Order: sequence, then C-alpha cells, then structure tokens
Amino acid sequence: MHTRKPDWLKIKLLGAEKVPETERILRRLSLHTVCKEANCPNLMECFAKKTATFMILGQVCTRNCTFCNVIKGEAQPVDPDEPAHIAEAVKALQLKHVVITSVTRDDLADGGAGHFAQAIRCIKRINESILVEVLIPDFRGDQKALSVVVKAKPDILNHNVETVPRLYPSVRPLANYQRSLELLRVVKKLDPGIYTKSGIMVGLGEEEQEIRDLMQDLRAVDCDLLTIGQYLAPSKQHHAVVAYIHPEIFAQYKSLGEGMGFKYVASAPFVRSSYHADEAGEILKAT
Ligand code: SF4
Ligand code: SF4
Repeated sequence: MHTRKPDWLKIKLLGAEKVPETERILRRLSLHTVCKEANCPNLMECFAKKTATFMILGQVCTRNCTFCNVIKGEAQPVDPDEPAHIAEAVKALQLKHVVITSVTRDDLADGGAGHFAQAIRCIKRINESILVEVLIPDFRGDQKALSVVVKAKPDILNHNVETVPRLYPSVRPLANYQRSLELLRVVKKLDPGIYTKSGIMVGLGEEEQEIRDLMQDLRAVDCDLLTIGQYLAPSKQHHAVVAYIHPEIFAQYKSLGEGMGFKYVASAPFVRSSYHADEAGEILKAT
C-alpha cells in the first residue's frame, strides 16, 4: 500500500553547494558511499557537514533485502587499496567520526572481516582519537570473522536488525533475527569496551508492541545505541511503505528506549543508521 507522503517527510535541500567538493574527493580515491548508493534522504545535509558513510567491499550485494536500493548480484573483486584510500579521504575531509559499512559478501571466506579490520587500523593510524563506527553484516554467524573486526577495536560496532522478526521473510529473506541479536551479544562478550548499536526502519507493517519487544530484545543483549527511522521505498519494485509513522510516535519510541537503558536513541522520520552519528559519539565520549 502506498499512501501520500505527509508534510513532515518533505526534504529540505540544505547545503547542496558542498556536495560537489565531497564527491570530488570520493571520486579521486575511487570510494563509494551508502549515502549515494542507497539514495539516502539526508545526503545534502550530511555532505554539507562533511560526513559520509563509506561503503567498502564493492557496490554489489550477495543478499536480496526487499527494502534496499543497493545493486544485487555477482560480487566484485575486493580493492586491496581501499582501506588506505578511506584513511586518505578521512584526512582530506577532516572527519572526526567515520562510519564504514559494506554490502554483504557471502562469497568471501571471512565475509570481508579482514578488510573492515584494515580500514579501522588505517584510520586509527592517522589519529587515535577519530571515532570509528563500523556497520557490519552478520558474517553468516561466523564468530571467528566477527572477532577479527572486534580485535581492530572500532569505537562503535553497529549491526542493524532492520525490522521485527515477523517481517524477516518478506524484508530480509536471507537474514536471521536471532543470529543478528547473537552477533551483538558476542561483541560485548569479546570486548565490553566497544559500544554496540542497532537500527530499525518503521512503516513496513510492524505493530507498536512488536517494536517494544524488539527494543527489549536489544537491551537483553546489552545493545547501547539505537536508531529508528521511517522506511521510504526506493522504487515501486521494493517493499511497499505500509504506513507513515507520525513524529509523535517516534518521540514515544525515543523516551521508551531511554527508559529501557539505551545510552542514546535517535528516533525520527529521517533518522538513518549513520544520521547524526557524530552526536552519539559526543555523548559516548562524555560518558
Ligand atoms: Fe542491502 Fe545490506 Fe540487504 Fe545487501 S544485506 S541487500 S546491502 S540491506
Ligand atoms: Fe550518508 Fe548516513 Fe548521512 Fe545518509 S544519514 S547521508 S547514509 S551519512
């Protein structure tokens, strides 16, 4: 079901003049951002603030989530220079909080974990105080691969559960809700100093009670940070938007989450996994 977009989802095109500069740097270093690949509605604002989420390990995903605009199909070769290029871009863009994510690479033996670890180390070599957040795939539940990323010591390890378990077959057919929760639990066991984070989209047909249950599940594995945003369908071929959730409901989820003990909850229509990630970073530095 597609309903008309309400007023609160009209996009403000702020900072458009800064986009070409950021794009030039990314092109020169052959880097890709999830901001562009996923048609993120915050692109203008984030690029203007010189914030970007780097997408490593190619632009083609081996999974088939029905909400996602990333190209699906046969994966591309891994660029061994990519971790060093990301560090160069971080320096050129003077980023203080870097987010790195990837397509899911079920074709690689380690799922790309070693590549993530290298990128973290290359950035930390520039300046130890740059906050590095990685948004990782589930590595098909491979804890050895996960521990390779954990050992590189990202400041924040993010893994999105994306939606409530009932909707997994139609939204994330190749993923598994329990496996994703287990990943977050294991990170805390391996290194309690790393902050864990997860995120969901709403408007896919979930019930409010299911969101509350999901939040409890995340707290039960000691997840620290949570993002909740409105799902927007990239095209008519993607999963339909079932509902536009009112900003008041987002505000209720935020207070609910804070009451449950999350250290930071970003909950608003335009929130994405990495939207205002720098704010969460500032809060964590102060704790
Ligand atoms: Fe998109 Fe990630 Fe799903 Fe791949 S695994 S289709 S990148 S959401
Ligand atoms: Fe990029 Fe994240 Fe900002 Fe979207 S919210 S533009 S993905 S940094």
